[in-house]
Amino acid sequence: MPVEAQGIEAAAVDPRRQVVAHSQPGRSALPGHGEHVGIDPTFRNPAADRDSGRTDREVPQLRIVAEGFSDGERVGSEENSQDVRKQQGYRYHGKKYTLMEPRAYLLDLDGTLYSGDGAIPGAPEALARLRKQEIPHRLVTNTTSRSRAMLVQRLRDYGFDVSPEEVFTATLAGTDVVKDAGYRRVAPFVPEPALSDMQDLELCGGTSGRVASRTPEAVLVGDLGEHWTYALLQEAFDYLMSGAVLIALSRDRYWLNGGRLALDAGPFVAGLEFAAGKSAVVAGKPSPAFYAAALRSLGLDAPASAAMVGDDLWSDVEGAQRAGLQGWLVRTGKYRESALRESGIKPDRILDSVAALG
Ligand SMILES: [Mg+2]
Repeated sequence: MPVEAQGIEAAAVDPRRQVVAHSQPGRSALPGHGEHVGIDPTFRNPAADRDSGRTDREVPQLRIVAEGFSDGERVGSEENSQDVRKQQGYRYHGKKYTLMEPRAYLLDLDGTLYSGDGAIPGAPEALARLRKQEIPHRLVTNTTSRSRAMLVQRLRDYGFDVSPEEVFTATLAGTDVVKDAGYRRVAPFVPEPALSDMQDLELCGGTSGRVASRTPEAVLVGDLGEHWTYALLQEAFDYLMSGAVLIALSRDRYWLNGGRLALDAGPFVAGLEFAAGKSAVVAGKPSPAFYAAALRSLGLDAPASAAMVGDDLWSDVEGAQRAGLQGWLVRTGKYRESALRESGIKPDRILDSVAALG
């Protein structure tokens, strides 16, 4: 049963990071590591140890892959595993783990409820069914090119019955991050329509239309897309090098624009991080605080009882799983079979489209 040497070294360095591999009777477990050594649950990746029928089980934090497992076997102790799975929304029944139906849904917008110039077929009806069945839900988006009011109007134009308080945006989350941290002067790098959701911040520089007479304390980066220029990137870089913190409204890699995958905010954030040698604070998905705020608004304190449904592998699926929610992927929007395969991400469920809900 091969195990990457790097993983074993990590386990040896930190005794809490030991690994157990329960194998079939008569087969030896990880060489030299005995049959029963627990994994501290805090070191486990919720996505990594689910009963998905695959034969390799991995603990990415430890960079260990235990190969040759059959269905039902796992990495970790039985007790631990059951507790963790229960928290993740799995129910143990008849020697199998089954995914519980979520009590609530968080739904992505672009690529999930709508794409291009219209609703995903069947999506408005699915949302209406959730509402009729009184299944709690929130719409959560990293789109920062429009204000919340504009997003709500767009949804209504596409036939969705939605109210502003049901929509959580990365822009509003970003303003909360700024306020919670006590920053006052903020340089926004977002399109003009998004500025109306930042009215209670002191905006200067960037795309605010106001001159920054003093260095901003924070640089806020959103969906500037094709409006980025070298001058704007240079200005953001200047602020960062003068001490400003970098707040990314989203760090998404790409989105579907007119049938073509297009650069999202993430590549520009990554460029600024690289140049300034600073890491961004991410305000929208996959920030656990963003997910927690959306769940709180639904009165939910058990994340596993909610499913995030979206088309972004990293923000919607992996990010949700890391925040303790179920991560469901839709085959609409930017979905690509090859990207799913290469990412190593294991969605809890894959839907042809959001129309399957309710
Ligand atoms: Mg999306």
